Amino acid sequence: MNCNNRALKICLYSVAILSLCITLNSCTQNSKKIIEIRGIYGNPKPFWDKGMNLPALGVNAIFVHSGSINHDMMEKARSEGLKIYAEFATLNGKNYVQDHPEAWAINEKGVRVEAASWFMGVCPTEPGFKKYRMNQLRDLLTRYDLDGVWMDYVHWHAQFEEPEPILPETCFCDHCLNKFAKDSKISIPEGSTAERAKWTLENVDPEWRDWRCQVIKEWATDMRLVIQDVKPGALLGLYHCPWNDSEFDGARRRILGLDYDMLKEVIDVFSPMVYHGRMGRDPEWVAENINWFCDRLEINYDSYPKVWPIVQAHDDPAKISGEEFEMVLKGGLSASSTGVMMFTTYSVAQDTVKTEIMNNLYNDLKRDHLP
Ligand SMILES: [Zn+2]
Repeated sequence: MNCNNRALKICLYSVAILSLCITLNSCTQNSKKIIEIRGIYGNPKPFWDKGMNLPALGVNAIFVHSGSINHDMMEKARSEGLKIYAEFATLNGKNYVQDHPEAWAINEKGVRVEAASWFMGVCPTEPGFKKYRMNQLRDLLTRYDLDGVWMDYVHWHAQFEEPEPILPETCFCDHCLNKFAKDSKISIPEGSTAERAKWTLENVDPEWRDWRCQVIKEWATDMRLVIQDVKPGALLGLYHCPWNDSEFDGARRRILGLDYDMLKEVIDVFSPMVYHGRMGRDPEWVAENINWFCDRLEINYDSYPKVWPIVQAHDDPAKISGEEFEMVLKGGLSASSTGVMMFTTYSVAQDTVKTEIMNNLYNDLKRDHLP
């Protein structure tokens, strides 16, 4: 009898311990990943004009084009306790190349590239252009007390934000060919630009691709140095093409020059531009892509680099339904992602269904995953 009682007690005790373990474990797992950023991309004015308060909508961070930032916006955003990040257009420069033809990107035929729909990539090695952009960054960080800068359009001349991307071979200007030859210790035979480009692509293609990725990384490194000098502690983020390693025959690295392994050493936060509608994908693709990306870069939610994707709310080329918007917002928070934002603020503010979806999700996250 005593023996049976004891066995029963031990058994009950074991069950109690087991239940406690399960409870603790589930609490630990739920509280492990903290969603830091409940963001919006674009000027917050459309919400403010409607008398909406961003923290009440669950928003805690705004990502705004650097040209739209002014002191009134900074003041109002700060009064609402928001983090403020500036989007910084880096290698897109239609006006710049018109005024500075020496920075016009050159294709493999030796002629100036045409705009790739609305994008005009400036030659990334032209020294005057680099200096111009770095001075702009320095001015921006000096003028405003920002929490970080998000580089945008950081790739060689191309267009990836369309269902049918435009993927030209560039840049074969004298700056690029000479710098490539010097950096890679390769002697390119004399000849016309078209002949030198042909020789390069036929004889040293892998070295050429590696070097192009290195040039892009150097842009990120130089921007980081400016940030460290003017605003230490501010984050360096990157809006980037979300293609995996094999899509379009490896064009993300081969043509755009984005090598994740190189960039990982410099970037604080990756923001894959998972615009499912613009790229002709299903909304489910967003979660798939973020899972792939976090796995590929071995992202940990509690260390740098972090992942805060930008998803599509904008009705282009077709209407993004409320259901779809909710799916891509949640998809953007998959795997080790610790934040999300959407393109654009205006698209959500003008649509009561989307506003309500964002409001519900962000406030849920605020309660369950308080930073
Ligand atoms: Zn060039």
